[in-house]
Amino acid sequence: MQTNELLRSKKLYLFDMDGTLYLGNQLYDFTLELLDTLKKTGRRYLFMTNNSSKSVDDYVKKLGSLGITAGREDFMTSSQATAYYLHKHHEGQKLYVCGTQSLKEELRREGFTVTTDVNETECIVMGFDTELTFQKLHDVSFMLLTRPELPYIATNPDYVCPTEFGSVPDCGSVCDMIYNATKKRPIVIGKPSPLMPQLAMEALGISVDEACVVGDRIYTDIKSGLNAGITSILVLSGETTSEILDESADKPHIVLQDAGQILAALKELN
Ligand SMILES: [Mg+2]
Repeated sequence: MQTNELLRSKKLYLFDMDGTLYLGNQLYDFTLELLDTLKKTGRRYLFMTNNSSKSVDDYVKKLGSLGITAGREDFMTSSQATAYYLHKHHEGQKLYVCGTQSLKEELRREGFTVTTDVNETECIVMGFDTELTFQKLHDVSFMLLTRPELPYIATNPDYVCPTEFGSVPDCGSVCDMIYNATKKRPIVIGKPSPLMPQLAMEALGISVDEACVVGDRIYTDIKSGLNAGITSILVLSGETTSEILDESADKPHIVLQDAGQILAALKELN
């Protein structure tokens, strides 16, 4: 199938946000029209993010401030996917959350009990913790070394999170600190795991052929799409350059300069 035809055949677009729909606090000029056109043509889209430091409500606000009207139902975050995983495998267990208040709230909202008591903890959850303290590192190390059988889960594998000035350490880096102390690695939920795309398709009743992922990072966005068996579209409007793409072993199905080319494909026959 020719690229534009393939793009038009998709019923569900799973968008990465930063580097795909906006950069930092700057929306790309095609973004609003793209989202609007997808909606008007009866297609669905979800904003898919690995960032577990913000709750869905935080993201609704953040997108609102950029001019994108979104509701809770428009998101698939690693916190939501983690909650789903926990329901499936660790229902009712008391969670020690090395994460932000927003992540704790999100998990409480899902019916989980969050504790700081290392003795009553039944499952450890690591998130992108912008409120990290040494006490939490100590507690997690203590639990993993004294009770190595405890379930140990991380919301996302990212080593760094981009900021205006460069990067700050993300969940993957903190998990490496814990690994250095305990030699334990968590089960990781976010991209590149296929769990978020799979959950999205399941929730919306969309088949593998009808879904696609659009993102600017090969090792998270594109990999999650490839792992889920759906069309994976790399946009060069964010952190991936053509040099990085050339060197990568994982190849997207489609490469676009930016997501504006999806809009152009949709408009072609409208
Ligand atoms: Mg991105």
